[in-house]
Amino acid sequence: MTAAPTPSPSGTRPRVVVTTSWDDGHRLDPRLAALLDKHRIAGTFYIAPRNREFAPADRLPAAGIRELAERYEIGGHTLTHQRLPQLPDPVARDEIRDGKDALEDAVGGPVTSFCYPRGEYTAAHVRFAHEAGFTLARTVRRSSLLPGPALETVTTVNAYAHRVDGPLALRLAGRRPWTAARLYLEWDQLALRWFALCLRHGGVFHLWGHSWEVDARRDWLRLERVLGHIAGRPDVSYVPNRDLVEAGA
Ligand SMILES: [Zn+2]
Repeated sequence: MTAAPTPSPSGTRPRVVVTTSWDDGHRLDPRLAALLDKHRIAGTFYIAPRNREFAPADRLPAAGIRELAERYEIGGHTLTHQRLPQLPDPVARDEIRDGKDALEDAVGGPVTSFCYPRGEYTAAHVRFAHEAGFTLARTVRRSSLLPGPALETVTTVNAYAHRVDGPLALRLAGRRPWTAARLYLEWDQLALRWFALCLRHGGVFHLWGHSWEVDARRDWLRLERVLGHIAGRPDVSYVPNRDLVEAGA
């Protein structure tokens, strides 16, 4: 479904918020942060400090996490990045809490945003995130300009070409097949189309992804194009994910 805010009354400028988030805690995250720095775009890095899916040498070390925390929000992403619904509840609860504790030790301050690994969660995990003290939790649902519930926040575009975007691309392209094909094949084109909609109607434009995936797909230039396009707009607020709690209210 396409979710967009209702148009603002004529004469008032719609409120536009841009946020970004980058998952997993990979050694390439500082490269991604350098691009955000260049374009002065806020963001949140969701980090699993002992991510089992990475070789230890590929994980962002504590010193790297601390350095990122000087300019960006650091968010919880569990301790080891396992699929929460596949874990017994007490283990899932510990994964959520232990990840938070490890990050708070690394950055020396509170970590209040969380992201469900792979976007997989149940109502119990929402409760565990709340009980651990998180005030915002991001999902992997896309195609929205409304952030939705604080502990099940929805995004706009993933920096990755998803095949399921086909029908949506056709709608966003006004049924023009060649335009739709570009939106379908090129996530950066899809992102620019969503940003144009956001400028027109207001809302939250939330771009998210993974530094390791951008690198594996050689998408750095694509990402830079999108960041350059959405950056530096005088009427746009650039905020970390934690500020969506307020923006979604
Ligand atoms: Zn992840």
